[in-house]
Amino acid sequence: MTTAARVELDQFLRPFIREIPNFPKPGIDFKDITPLLADARAFRRATEAMAAAFAGDRISHVVGVESRGFILAGPIAQQLGAGFIPVRKPGKLPHTVERVDYTLEYGTDALEMHRDTLQWGHRVLVVDDVLATGGTAKATCDLIEMTGAELIGCSVLIALAELPGLTVMRHRRVHSLLRY
Ligand code: AMP
Repeated sequence: MTTAARVELDQFLRPFIREIPNFPKPGIDFKDITPLLADARAFRRATEAMAAAFAGDRISHVVGVESRGFILAGPIAQQLGAGFIPVRKPGKLPHTVERVDYTLEYGTDALEMHRDTLQWGHRVLVVDDVLATGGTAKATCDLIEMTGAELIGCSVLIALAELPGLTVMRHRRVHSLLRY
């Protein structure tokens, strides 16, 4: 994508991100993507651009992170001709799982993924809405690498540049559409 096209897309999408101060805790500036999801053109343009950044990478599976990552990962997987795999909060997946614990911008949590879905030879893209501290993205990448599959990169709608996520992920390939 040219710089001019990137600037135009940024200017088009940014008004659809609603900023909610002090949610869900004081001090957190929550990026609400529901206005973007509710607009057919903004939703399509965002997911098309998030997929296009990895169009030449022969992605076999897109891993979506619960919960807003799921919404973006579905259309991105379809555009890349890839399968979709959910990474979920503990206790939600019915079959045998791999688990990692991680730190969130507002608390700690754990993530799980079905153990038997990915394997050596698979080429995986991680998708989420927001990269903040990077704990979620790093934990998801670690889960994928436990399986022997190849982690190609991570596509996020929003990267919060003042938080350490981009630094935590500096050894991985990260594409973000909007930076705050
Ligand atoms: P982190 O692990 O700190 O990078 O946080 C990323 C995850 O938490 C993503 O799945 C986001 O949905 C959510 N998240 C963290 N911070 C925010 C924020 N400021 N606005 C919206 N979602 C956030």
